[in-house]
Amino acid sequence: MGLNSIFGHEKQKALLLSFLQKERLPHAFLFSGQSGIGKKKIALEFIKHILCEKGSGCDTCRACIKIERQTHPDLLLIGPQEKKADDSPDFLEAEEKSSLTARSNIPRSLIAGDKDGKVRGINQEVLAYPYEGSTRAILIDDADRMRKDAADALLKTLEEPPPYNIFFLITSSEREIPLTIRSRCVRVSFAPLQREHIEEYFRKVLNVDEKKADLISMIACGSIGNGLFWLKEGNLNLRYKLAELITGKRRSFLNATGLAEQSTKTSGDLSMYLTFMLSLLRDMYVVLDQKDTAMVMNRDVRELLEWENIDRRWLEHAMKKVQETMTIMRYNVNRWLLLENLLIHIMR
Ligand SMILES: [Zn+2]
Repeated sequence: MGLNSIFGHEKQKALLLSFLQKERLPHAFLFSGQSGIGKKKIALEFIKHILCEKGSGCDTCRACIKIERQTHPDLLLIGPQEKKADDSPDFLEAEEKSSLTARSNIPRSLIAGDKDGKVRGINQEVLAYPYEGSTRAILIDDADRMRKDAADALLKTLEEPPPYNIFFLITSSEREIPLTIRSRCVRVSFAPLQREHIEEYFRKVLNVDEKKADLISMIACGSIGNGLFWLKEGNLNLRYKLAELITGKRRSFLNATGLAEQSTKTSGDLSMYLTFMLSLLRDMYVVLDQKDTAMVMNRDVRELLEWENIDRRWLEHAMKKVQETMTIMRYNVNRWLLLENLLIHIMR
């Protein structure tokens, strides 16, 4: 139960539990590592150990249950606030528009409250005693997406942390968090899970058949979150179609437009497709260099790769384009047009 219910990450779990055993919890943790590998899940399970009525993260006491439901009054959860896309085409239905929602940032008001004191931020909350236990846990997800003024406000609290509070900052881009904040946290870094762990998880925990579990574990890049994404048949199909377009097996403007539409409509997480495209282009590099497809990471699309058809200059251009798009995506709200533009640029 608690941390013991988590797959893998043995060192990190042992480290966290050792803080509890020594009864010396730091006032702030920074959990870093690629997205989808369970950082937030581990933080929440660890918080169970801290707030559990039995002290064990039992999963059955009132405190553990409230944490599981994320309704515990001493657990504050914040993260980037979603912003609706204003410039999506007018002919879209409301539901379609909401699927174009861009990931936004963490505004200052969540940390410092608003000017007239109507909204209480983290900085005000931490001054009061916890409601039910002896400790309050504050979890900031995607902490790298704090706006600068939000980060400045948080720093003030971390500089003189009030007692009874533990902060958990979760990030997949540690370097985007100001050093002044990082240096005040105990860093716990998470590595991608081993392929065998992921395979076992999908087979034993989710009862996925052997062949599928094997495929998912290969394309999940060390992350159960990624694996869950590709487990959805629709996402996996789109992945294949994108690969057909990029490798030149099925080339058309109409196709590019359609795929851009589908990818943004069916999934809130466009970054999964972009990461896939980048890794596919890397695979193409390997194929070009080795004249062999044995070392390809994306084995489900291996049959589409032929080194005779790959042009090195195009490949470099395409990789640059995908990377640029990944950066712009953080700011641009119309992801459909962004992806369409990318696909038309890089299709062969
Ligand atoms: Zn409990």
